[in-house]
Amino acid sequence: MAFPPLGPTRPHTTPLFQSAVYDVPDLDALDRVMNGEEPGFFYARDAHPNARNLASQLALLEKGTWGFVTASGMAAISASLLAYVSGGDRILASNRLYGRTNRLMKTELARFGVTASFVDCNDLISLEVALQTPTKALIVETISNPLLRVVDLPALIEVCHRHGAKVIVDNTFATPVLCRPLEMGADMVMESLTKIISGHGDVTLGLLAGNDAATGESLVQLISTWGFSANPFDCWMCERGLGSLPLRMNASTQNAKELAEWFDASGLVKQVHYPNRPSHPDFALAGRLFPNGAGHMLCIELGGGREAVNCFMRAVPEITFSPSLGDLHTTISHPDTTSHRYDSTEEKLAQGITPGLIRVSVGIEPQEHLRNLFEKGLRLAGSC
Ligand SMILES: *Cc1c(COP(=O)(O)O)cnc(C)c1O
Repeated sequence: MAFPPLGPTRPHTTPLFQSAVYDVPDLDALDRVMNGEEPGFFYARDAHPNARNLASQLALLEKGTWGFVTASGMAAISASLLAYVSGGDRILASNRLYGRTNRLMKTELARFGVTASFVDCNDLISLEVALQTPTKALIVETISNPLLRVVDLPALIEVCHRHGAKVIVDNTFATPVLCRPLEMGADMVMESLTKIISGHGDVTLGLLAGNDAATGESLVQLISTWGFSANPFDCWMCERGLGSLPLRMNASTQNAKELAEWFDASGLVKQVHYPNRPSHPDFALAGRLFPNGAGHMLCIELGGGREAVNCFMRAVPEITFSPSLGDLHTTISHPDTTSHRYDSTEEKLAQGITPGLIRVSVGIEPQEHLRNLFEKGLRLAGSC
């Protein structure tokens, strides 16, 4: 294959290396690349320039010495657990995890003889008690889905390390713009890049980052062997979004904060869940952990239950229903019928997930436009 000569010039943007295989001129060159004496690539499932480029930029943001991009957020979580646990081990998991992560713990890991116990990570005493049984690792989300419970990461990490357990943090709702768990001592941080980090609703990717060199080396093999690798095109698309990540994160966080205040003042909703509102159980903690704001996610509860949610959706089709989050545009979802659909009614109510609860992923639209749309939807929902 021939390239047109570029002479002294270079592409201004990262080229897309949409190639599964890299050619080598001879066996000596192959040896040098395989032995790490010279840079180079061989087979894209092992490594390729677009994944490496994206991973190194994200590792910098997370304050990690290494980073790996995977085919999805779930691939990253699977890889993080495979790096730490083997058959017979026990892990601890927060009792407020993303639905698929829960399923991974309860259904998949159990098949390999790994026990998962669930613990309320907002209760350090329960955590201490749970850690009395030998534990390999704890997995927890910085800000939980859907009710935005914030955990005291520094305290939690201190307790886990004292008991010899690693800490894996799913930082998807906070992003490195608001919180860098590795700086607080976490062993691994995970992000679903599918959400606000890629930010345009058009890629599925995940990230793992950390500082421990041995873990980083084992992940190189693990990601290729289990086939968690990311494809070049999605990596290339995601890299494009990185430059605007702080701007998007700050704009949507400011929008969410102002909307939450407005919801509270409007009297149009039964309850607002946002960590920067004084009514939130983790208000003080969020203020301390997130000096740059509490993020772009919030929940509102409508007094009229499921039918009110239906009326709201029909009244403002401009606010689209989406199982994802972190898009440029504001979207809503309904945890009761989507992410927590298969949980029992009692379990849902214990977590505060009611039929009237709407989860909002706030975008970067002008605030007034958002208020107008929500006011229209909420007034109609209130009278239907
Ligand atoms: C979406 C999400 C995941 C899973 O990521 P995918 O990219 O969809 O595989 C994990 N954790 C959280 C908090 C998420 O929002």
